[in-house]
Amino acid sequence: MKLIGLIGGMSWESSAQYYRIINREVQARLGGAHSARSVMLSVDFAEIERWQHDAEWERLGEAMSDAGQRLERAGAEFLVLCTNTMHRVADTLEGAVDIPLLHIVDPTAERLAELGITRVGLLGTAFTMEQEFFKERLVQGRNLDVMIPGDADRDLVHNIIYRELVTGEVRPESQTAMRAVMSRLVGRGAQAIILGCTEIMLLVSQEDCSVPLLDTTTLHAQAAVDLALEGTKEPA
Ligand code: GLU
Repeated sequence: MKLIGLIGGMSWESSAQYYRIINREVQARLGGAHSARSVMLSVDFAEIERWQHDAEWERLGEAMSDAGQRLERAGAEFLVLCTNTMHRVADTLEGAVDIPLLHIVDPTAERLAELGITRVGLLGTAFTMEQEFFKERLVQGRNLDVMIPGDADRDLVHNIIYRELVTGEVRPESQTAMRAVMSRLVGRGAQAIILGCTEIMLLVSQEDCSVPLLDTTTLHAQAAVDLALEGTKEPA
């Protein structure tokens, strides 16, 4: 089993989910007391959040590169960056290490293709919804239309993430609001919704949505297990 290198803390609420899903998945596949081999470097999110809102992407690229290099020195065989937003600097991180980065967009793109989805709604931070880094990698020549919520809904989703979810606050009224945002996307033709922020799964799940919900946290964590167990014989 490969040693997984997790860059976490963005926020730690979602890193805890990664840790749980990865270990549960390894146990489910290998049985008994099996668990994942992993090492996590968890950052102080207050600093990261400030740099994001000040558009200090170069500094953020350096911080992610430093984290990746530390994990590589600790023996990690590949990297999992446990946040969608910070994939804005994925190229910088990849250039700073000699081990592969398991990109968060790829497992979601694969699932969309499996489901035959051609019109998808994307929820995430304003950075993920409004900038190109996530959508560009998702589409990559595929027949796929990526829809984002309108202005007011984007603000709402962004504020729920940064004011509540990253500090572990799960409010029923925000759950209702998120359901309404998803249903407006479905009304505009979305055949599936991507939870493109690793904390949104703390607030809503498949029961809250009438179309398939693709949670990047779960899909990314499961893909990490696929890669970690590649070449390992799983019990029949
Ligand atoms: N975890 C979130 C994401 O997946 C937001 C926190 C961050 O900005 O890293 O985008």
